[in-house]
Amino acid sequence: MLTPKIVIRPKLCTGCRLCESTCALYNEKVNNPTRSRIQVMKQHSFGLFTPVMCYQCKEPPCVPPCPVDAIKRDPETGVTNIDYDLCIGCEQCAAACPFGAIITLPDKVVKCDLCKGDPQCVKYCETKAIEYKSPFQAYHENRAKRGEIAFSNLAADYGLPEDVPNLVRK
Ligand code: SF4
Ligand code: SF4
Repeated sequence: MLTPKIVIRPKLCTGCRLCESTCALYNEKVNNPTRSRIQVMKQHSFGLFTPVMCYQCKEPPCVPPCPVDAIKRDPETGVTNIDYDLCIGCEQCAAACPFGAIITLPDKVVKCDLCKGDPQCVKYCETKAIEYKSPFQAYHENRAKRGEIAFSNLAADYGLPEDVPNLVRK
């Protein structure tokens, strides 16, 4: 079975940063977004917000540089976790992450662990810019949506009734 992940849709993100507050409150018990495992990046030139967090890579580049084997991917859940009993805070894992998804705090490094299978940020995102599902499922939903739009545009161009997309798919 494909492991669910957090799927991001930047076009739907309003930049409200409720996900950051929720994450910090749940994981760190403080309302301080700088301690959040999800960080919303703003691309000023496009007016676009992109939530960034660990993508739970199949071959996580943060794992090999760890000198004490403190960060490992769980093959059953697909989640990469930090063992704080072993971690010495050297930040090598953070330096190796190409997405900047491991956050270096003054007292420790942190990363998204999907809230042990119940990601809190997803619950509070009103626009569904972040969703917890299999990337395979997300791909097929997007594909179906794109198909519907294309058929609707075709129907409008040729003056056909609105329900043409459904008729065509049957
Ligand atoms: S809660 Fe949703 S809409 Fe708000 S910043 Fe986070 S991802 Fe974007
Ligand atoms: S900060 Fe901790 S988990 Fe990351 S590489 Fe160093 S020891 Fe390993």
